Amino acid sequence: SHRAREKIKGARRARAGSREKKKRESSLIPIPIPSPPLVGAAPPPPNPPPPPMSKTPGKTPRTPRRILESYTIKGSDGVIRPGDSVLMKAPDTSKPPYVAKIEEIEAAGPRGANVKVKVRWYYRPEESIGGRRPFHGEKEVFLSDHQDVQSADTIECKCNVYSFRDYTKLSAVNPEDYFCRFEYKSITGSFVPDRIAVFCKCEMPYNPDDLMIQCEECSDWFHPACIGKTIKEAKKLENFTCEGCVAENGNGNGVKNENSHESTGESDEKQVQSKRRRR
Ligand SMILES: [Zn+2]
Ligand SMILES: [Zn+2]
Repeated sequence: SHRAREKIKGARRARAGSREKKKRESSLIPIPIPSPPLVGAAPPPPNPPPPPMSKTPGKTPRTPRRILESYTIKGSDGVIRPGDSVLMKAPDTSKPPYVAKIEEIEAAGPRGANVKVKVRWYYRPEESIGGRRPFHGEKEVFLSDHQDVQSADTIECKCNVYSFRDYTKLSAVNPEDYFCRFEYKSITGSFVPDRIAVFCKCEMPYNPDDLMIQCEECSDWFHPACIGKTIKEAKKLENFTCEGCVAENGNGNGVKNENSHESTGESDEKQVQSKRRRR
């Protein structure tokens, strides 16, 4: 929902500045790495390679391949250039389209015909060796080292692959919006970077699709479920102090910890203020 995104956006902003002191990271190595290289894990080329151009036997000189600066997607006015990301038709039309980064565009035929694109595939989490994990976002893709040459005819449309940071700042996520925070080695199933910051009691990396709330004391972020709250309850909280901080700071100032969940850990004066504000 919109509200959830708001909080998440806030989460990212705040983290950039205030979370220096407590940095926890998790290694991504626990992803199972199979011993034989898993060739099958790579997505198959979106379409079979185009048939070779018919050539008159005997006429050897080929049309020299020509690098193009741009290409207009068939049936649309979308123009792509190297560096752009695109969606390409999957051979199985029940599957979502493949996400690719255009590296080079070339015309192998005369007068700009038979356009081919050299692409680098983005893998969806389920296409990776380790599979989809709970912290992977719905629109997350990994920039792989798997390259291919494809007919430009298979390009459906341009898409956006944002950095993680930029993605969390989007006010709305459109169908053609994705984000990438890892590079992926398609043979070994390993990621770059291979470590990632973790949050909450569950020590999970951040999934931008999930609502998290921040502890005002330690600045760590928590999943509502991990602190025994529903998403609805969590959204209503005006301030929140985590169990750990309550235990740490609550000892000195007495008994009120039980039901002043959101305001313990602050000075008495502040508690009163925040209560008043809520009325
Ligand atoms: Zn959690
Ligand atoms: Zn805390």
